[in-house]
Parts: sequence; C-alpha cells; structure tokens
Amino acid sequence: MNRPLIGCIADDFTGATDLANNLVRAGMRCVQTIGVPGDGAVVQADAIVVALKSRTVPAAEAVEQSLAAMRWLQAQGVQQIYFKYCSTFDSTPEGNIGPVTEALLDALHGPGQGFTIACPAFPVNQRTVFKGHLFVGDVLLSDSGMRHHPLTPMTDANLVRVMQAQTRRKVGLVAQDAVAAGPQAIRERFAALQAEGVGVAVVDAVSNEDLMSIGKALAGMLLVTAGSGIAIGLPQNWPQLQTRGAEVRADALPPARGLQAVVSGSCSVATNTQVLHFKQSGRPSLAIDPLTIAAGEDVAAQALAWAEPLLASGPVLLYATAEPSAVRAVQEKLGVTQAGEMVEHTLSRIASGLVQRGVRQLLVAGGETSGAVVQALGVQRMAIGPQIDPGVPWTAVDTPLCPGEPVHVALKSGNFGSTDFFTKAFAQLSSQP
Ligand code: ADP
Repeated sequence: MNRPLIGCIADDFTGATDLANNLVRAGMRCVQTIGVPGDGAVVQADAIVVALKSRTVPAAEAVEQSLAAMRWLQAQGVQQIYFKYCSTFDSTPEGNIGPVTEALLDALHGPGQGFTIACPAFPVNQRTVFKGHLFVGDVLLSDSGMRHHPLTPMTDANLVRVMQAQTRRKVGLVAQDAVAAGPQAIRERFAALQAEGVGVAVVDAVSNEDLMSIGKALAGMLLVTAGSGIAIGLPQNWPQLQTRGAEVRADALPPARGLQAVVSGSCSVATNTQVLHFKQSGRPSLAIDPLTIAAGEDVAAQALAWAEPLLASGPVLLYATAEPSAVRAVQEKLGVTQAGEMVEHTLSRIASGLVQRGVRQLLVAGGETSGAVVQALGVQRMAIGPQIDPGVPWTAVDTPLCPGEPVHVALKSGNFGSTDFFTKAFAQLSSQP
C-alpha cells in the first residue's frame, strides 16, 4: 500500500464527505477523519480528508485548525494539500477562505510566497465559474438564495473581488478561453500570473472537461483550494493509480454484517418523504416526540426496548422527523436550540444503544444529527465506500462500542437521497461484491 497522495482539509463535515465521495468515484481509496487525529498512525489510503468545523468560526481559529490538519497530513507523507470549501464559496469579508489559503501558502512556500488556485466550480451540480463569476444554476451567486444565508450571505458573484477582500496576496483570473485551450495553456496562464505577482488565481470552469484540464494543470502544485469538483481531475496525475489492476476497488469496504437500523433527525422535505416511504413499505417505525423528552421521560430507553425484539426481522426506523408545522409548534414550546439539542441527544443515545444491541448497518438522516451520532459512537475515521445517491456514500467506521467489528454507516444530510433511500441503501450494501 502506498502512502497517501492527497491530503484534504475540509471546512465542514458534510462537505468533507462530499469531497471524499468524489475522490473515491475518481478511483482513489479515501479515509475521512473527524477533526485532526491525535495519533500519527499511518492511514492506508490514496487520499485523506480531514473534516473540520471551521467555516464560520473566527478566522484565527480556522487558520489554527487548518495548519494543524496540514501538519498532520504532511506527516502522513501527502504530496498535495487540498483546502476544500463550499461550492457557493461560503465566507465573509473576514474569511475564512482567504486567511486559511494565505496561511497554508505561507506554511508551504514561505511568507508571501507560492501560488494556488481558487475554484468552487462543480458543473454537474450546477456550480459554474465564468469570467471569474460564480453561477448557481442559471443565476449569479449574488442573485441566488445564498444572498440571504444567515451566517455567510454572498452578495457578490465576482470571485476575484470576493477573494481579494479576504487576502493580502494579489488575486488574478484564469479565464475560460485559457481553460478550454487545455492543460498547457492553463499552466502558461499560471506562469504569466505569477510573473505579475499574483498569488491566488480564480479559475473558470463550465464543464467536466474543464475540471479535467484544470486537474492536469495542477500536477505538482503544493496547495489546491477548491470546492469538491476539482477533485475529479486530480487522480490522473498519479500514474500508479491508473496502472493498478481492476481488482483494487477504490470503494471497497469490509463485508457488511449484523442488524440494520435508521435514525432520522432531519425534518427536510426529502427526509419526510423517505420516512413516509419506509413506513408505507410495512417496516417497523417509531416516532420520537420532543415534548415527551422535554417532560423528562427516558425516551431513548423506551425506543431501544421497542426496537430490540424487532431488529432480527430487518431494518427498523426511529425518527423525530416531522412536518414544518409540527416542528414549529415544538420549537415555540421548547425553543429552537433546546429542541434541536434535546432531539440530537436522544437520537445519538438511541444510535449508540442500537450498536450495543448488534446493529452494524446504520443510516442516519440529518447533518446536525449525523454529527451528534458520529460523536456519540466515538468515530474518528471513516473509510469511504460506494455511493448510494449523489453525495451520500456508505462508509465503514470503528467504534469503541464494538471493537474489532466495523459498523457500516451512511450519513445523509437534509435534502439528499431518493424517496426509497432508507430501503434501497441496505439492499445496495448487501449486494456489494
Ligand atoms: P437537516 O440535514 O435536514 O438540516 P439536521 O439534523 O441538520 O437535519 O437538523 C435538524 C434539526 O432539527 C436537528 O437539530 C434535530 O434535532 C431537530 N429536530 C428533529 N426533529 C425535530 C422535531 N420534531 N421538532 C423540533 N426539532 C427537531
């Protein structure tokens, strides 16, 4: 097994999984870590993604966390660092994309030195960059819903301007005509910009072919900063990945064993339809009522007692998922944050209890819910496996709750996944070679 080639630093948890999923689909075996691991044990993979929670913390903290991740990745022997942010370039004039990029460049090349790109484009997901402007579908970023984002409102689609506001380094542009002319032209443009004193180049991309050309032009660049799209063009730069036999599957996981369960704390539209579909399929399900939790009952213990005798017959669903009006009513009584935390706490106790009762295949719905469950299970690393639906892969994790026995976990954030996600995910896992 070779040393890891690419070391990624992702500024949030679900973004990390999205990137890891892309790397696996492009042929790289990938491990995602939750935060910077405390140990130096060598990770057996082609790529590592360190998932941070640094998107909206103060810039100095984001810099500190990202540098710690970079140092840990360097100790793993990676050849290229990939700083991953959101495909809508979520940031404020204070950062954190600019300050983190700058700190990584300083660390890798010396103060004020070095050169990197900035490219959130992912055309198949409706994110394109043209003449330095980011489009979300058919509209400019600044005309998209992102302009109203509560934490990182994006009111300017001109990424050269946005990036320049966040960094002392000079920001330039590799426009689409150079990108369309291929990797050599892109490299020439990089060289010309560097000669003009540019340290960060926003790069246009409107198609997958563009991502592949850019990927090739990035061979040997120490730092890449991008959304998850650029990842698809990077594996081609390592011939050893292209020449290894077909028997090396990037998405291979250990065989799936044990009992199956779904824990859902997402109230998104897609999750509501998935819960309904699961119930209509005739499988057992139990609703978790936040008001009963608030009344002081041990809802987790009750739920586990309900689930225990059913698990042997197939997957069960435990859900707090509710329609918007029900959620609002609960939030008015308990407060938004308190309701969320209470439900997350109960669902993560349920998830732990399920694993203690033999569940080894666990689906979790909800971004925040997933974070709480992963933490409760004490998960530090996730091996990334096959994709169930876009952006949602099966993973295999170790947990102190069942040492030596991998648990297959899929973390589905809000609106991801088809209506039959909760049933088809298990079927897909059991059909794995
Ligand atoms: P999504 O990915 O769909 O946004 P999250 O898990 O990130 O899902 O967020 C859902 C939030 O709603 C969580 O904090 C969860 O605990 C909370 N929640 C879940 N069910 C209910 C409910 N019935 N009433 C109030 N809050 C709920």
